[in-house]
Amino acid sequence: MAELIDGKALARQLDTETKAGVDALIAERGVAPGLAVVLVGNDPASEVYVAHKIKACARVGISSQEHRLPENTPQDALLTLIARLNVDPTIHGILVQVPLPQHIDAGVILGAIDPGKDVDGFHPVNVGRLSTGTGGLVPCTPLGVMKLLDTVIDDMTGMNAVVIGKSNIVGKPIAMLLLEREATVTVTHIETRGLPDIARQADIIIAAAGAPRLVRGYWVKEGAVIIDVGITRVLNPESGKDKLTGDVAFDEVQHARAVTPVPGGVGPMTIACLLSNTLKAARNAGAQIHG
Ligand code: NAD
Repeated sequence: MAELIDGKALARQLDTETKAGVDALIAERGVAPGLAVVLVGNDPASEVYVAHKIKACARVGISSQEHRLPENTPQDALLTLIARLNVDPTIHGILVQVPLPQHIDAGVILGAIDPGKDVDGFHPVNVGRLSTGTGGLVPCTPLGVMKLLDTVIDDMTGMNAVVIGKSNIVGKPIAMLLLEREATVTVTHIETRGLPDIARQADIIIAAAGAPRLVRGYWVKEGAVIIDVGITRVLNPESGKDKLTGDVAFDEVQHARAVTPVPGGVGPMTIACLLSNTLKAARNAGAQIHG
């Protein structure tokens, strides 16, 4: 049986550390880290994510503000709000929930956030810092993936890592973080030829495609470590209800060394890393003020 990597337990542990850091910051400066979450429109999945994030802030003592704007909000109005949050000294992290409505250019919006407050790590400055290994705020899901890997692998040097999916928010940043650890990284995507053969070479598989049960048992070599980032709602014909399904055929990969479940793997770590990024941004803001 493959070892189950428990994302919920690790997230709880990280939250405890974040809470201690928040308490220390409040004791030192009398100010709590502040996160502003901006939601445009009524996308039901986004509403659930935002509610989780706001609730999580309260758990660790981060103060949060929710800015809900109607679907037809003009891009300029959103830019004005971001400009205001950028200069608000009580706000250390700004998160604009994606996807944004079609009339809004997400690149322009994410690029308008102060890179020091960009707790999602999507601003080009933070993307550049990540790819050059020069610090900055790292996107939450990729950061969570690395922390999960760290629970089972001491040293990734020279390991073959295969990343399935090349999105800017998941696949590419994960590839950068694995390279920083001296892994040999292959990034694959929907057009990749011979993916099962490539995956079978991997010591580490990161599945981030959003394709339910894509990674089959025969894709996985004995002893590999698998992180399943994928989350897709699939209708369960027996119950008639939706079920969250990962990119990995979990029942077929028990010859792996370790694997994350869905749910309960990467998901909880993403939120825990958002909180730790907000604390980091608040600490950095203080460091700038105090020189
Ligand atoms: P995306 O749609 O932007 O990118 C998907 C990538 O996977 C693309 O590069 C595409 O080429 C590749 N891909 C798709 N189908 C493939 C296939 N059959 N074979 C090989 N490659 C394939 O998605 P994303 O935003 O990167 O998210 C990926 C998945 O991770 C989704 O299921 C998403 O819900 C999930 N996700 C989970 C968390 C979390 O916190 N657990 C966070 C972000 C995203």
